[in-house]
Amino acid sequence: MALYSVPVLILKEGTQRTIGRDALRANIMAARALAEVLKTSLGPRGLDKMLVDSFGDITVTNDGATIVKEMEVQHPAAKLLVEVAKAQDAEVGDGTTSAVVFAGALLEKAEELLEQNIHPTIIIEGYTKAMKEAIRILEEIAIKVDPMDRGLLRKIVDTAIASKYIGKGAIGEKLANMAIDAALTVAERRPDGTYDFRIDDVKIEKKKGGSIADTQLVYGIVLDKEVVHPGMPRRVENAKIALIDAPLEVEKPEITAKINITSPDLIKAFLDEEAKLLKEMVDKIADTGANVVICQKGIDEVAQHFLAKKGILAVRRVKRSDMEKLEKATGGKIVSSIRDLKPEDLGYAELVEERRVGNDKMVFVEGCKNPKAVTILVRGANDMVLDEVERSLKDALNVLRNVMRVPKILPGGGAPEVELALRLREFAAKIGGKEQLAIEAFAAALEEIPMILAETAGQDPLEVLMKLRQLHSEGKINAGIDVINGKVVEDITKINVVEPLIVKTNVIKSATEAATTILKIDDIISASPLKKEE
Ligand code: ADP
Repeated sequence: MALYSVPVLILKEGTQRTIGRDALRANIMAARALAEVLKTSLGPRGLDKMLVDSFGDITVTNDGATIVKEMEVQHPAAKLLVEVAKAQDAEVGDGTTSAVVFAGALLEKAEELLEQNIHPTIIIEGYTKAMKEAIRILEEIAIKVDPMDRGLLRKIVDTAIASKYIGKGAIGEKLANMAIDAALTVAERRPDGTYDFRIDDVKIEKKKGGSIADTQLVYGIVLDKEVVHPGMPRRVENAKIALIDAPLEVEKPEITAKINITSPDLIKAFLDEEAKLLKEMVDKIADTGANVVICQKGIDEVAQHFLAKKGILAVRRVKRSDMEKLEKATGGKIVSSIRDLKPEDLGYAELVEERRVGNDKMVFVEGCKNPKAVTILVRGANDMVLDEVERSLKDALNVLRNVMRVPKILPGGGAPEVELALRLREFAAKIGGKEQLAIEAFAAALEEIPMILAETAGQDPLEVLMKLRQLHSEGKINAGIDVINGKVVEDITKINVVEPLIVKTNVIKSATEAATTILKIDDIISASPLKKEE
């Protein structure tokens, strides 16, 4: 055997390397630190975080996804948890705090197993088995529901937005009802009897000013724009709407052309020619029967004048996304060349009207051909409030969509976690060996959720857990903690704390995946940070 006395360098100079248990410990520590931050935000009695970004902008929220997104996490393992929260948010739009907190708990329990010299591979296998079994059990205990039952939808929305500061009282009630009305309007029935919609189908338009109580649901599309010309009508009934994505302007040449004008007559002729072209455009539009023009590009002042003379209401520089929403809502077609505009391209709405909203004006397109078009016009004193209202509405819409897609629910308030822990311990005993310990650790990690909820309600977490275990072992699978009143109840569904099944299954899946990914890492190789030029 040859002996190599010269060290072989495979990494760049300055690269840092941490291997084996040290690497694992460092990663677990970082991920747990992040979970620790989110812990106190869990549930309706969870506290808010104030986040200040590098520009000094402030966000106050207890929305898990928002917190981790804004936190500018540096450590790679903690970043993995941020990804979990983002994935959870993208897939089901709820349960982000729970996912991060649960992943943190899984890692905390894994650490204890590592101390007992249990190999990470065994822990990973145990956790994966436990996850699969947990999902199976959840399917079994979930309650089938009617996804169009308004009362039930209300319960689910309440549970989802209870933790937001605007999710309570009369305002919370108003927002919840609005989200339900919007969702019921846009939802489409699928062949298997379930329903579905896209969160985007509900347009959320924020307008600073007024109070949250002024927030309203509009059956149609609201544009944050004014009618372009004072001579135009402010209100058009039986609106036939041209959706145009070309400028109503005479195109300026790309190269600078120099024109020598030698007499005033020539200037006039020149301007007359421009006006003639614009008039032709307007005539062409008017000939189709349109009485409303919504334009994605600009509208020349002269064109505005001609439009006004014809009694046409026009709006310019409308966002592309709004143009597409209008297309869907009014049944019209966006045309890119006025020459091609035909009567059948026009959309229809019962009413297009400019209304004053606070100090501004907005254009409302109501009673659209497609009755599924809705907008929630959010009002609030400042951007912070507007954003939190938007997040709460999105949360509400997400849970609604979740339960419409998979019409099965679970009790909230830690009930499913305690039930799962109980059944997983029985399952662990059947598996035996070292994996049994990992499955039991998984069960213990699940129980962290009711314990944290108890803590936010100022209760003794262990005492609460003991009571819940007792009740569940007596077969009361809905026993949970009512954090509003700070007490253990035998049936949490009676106080309307319920969640869609897919949120919980997703929390368990994504948290387990994150924890096992971190447990698989035994080597951290980090390049030396790029040095800034002094
Ligand atoms: P996430 O981002 O994970 O959705 P939340 O802060 O919304 O976090 O908290 C959700 C948790 O709070 C769930 O476990 C849910 O069951 C629980 N919860 C919500 N309302 C109540 C309530 N009134 N009593 C007890 N638990 C509740």
